[in-house]
Amino acid sequence: MIKMKENKKLCTLCKRIVNGNNTISLPNFIQNKKDDLYILNEAVIHVDCIPNFGHKDKLHYILGEMKKNTAPKDQQCIVDGTFSENFDDMLSLGLLSSNPSEDIYMYNFLNIKKSNISLWDNQERFVRILKELKTSNSWLSDSSFNLIDYLISVFDITTINNLTD
Ligand SMILES: [Zn+2]
Repeated sequence: MIKMKENKKLCTLCKRIVNGNNTISLPNFIQNKKDDLYILNEAVIHVDCIPNFGHKDKLHYILGEMKKNTAPKDQQCIVDGTFSENFDDMLSLGLLSSNPSEDIYMYNFLNIKKSNISLWDNQERFVRILKELKTSNSWLSDSSFNLIDYLISVFDITTINNLTD
């Protein structure tokens, strides 16, 4: 039996040891187990292995987006175009899908102030897409925290309004 030393990490793509040179460490960036990039959550990979990866175009896309969109100072509200001084008010959706043919894809890396949700002209459409995704077979949450349920609860303000009518 081969026993791995605990400090040796393996590249998720080639299963060989990574030694820190020319490697990328990925964060927990996708909560959907059915996404093509889910296997790369919290993975370490060799840069040289990317060209051989079957979903390399999707990976290049998210690496590019994560680079330009993660710092709080770069998060610009889609409704009023302002940057938030109150980070608790800014919702940054991150990656929702790596699949361009899914409706939710256009909302990847969206930043919006919670206080502006009711003013967002895409709010109803976004909630409809979330609800469709929830009942489809294309989303499987990776933990007890279900991102789709959470987003519906935050964005579905019409439900709240209807209750008070
Ligand atoms: Zn590798």
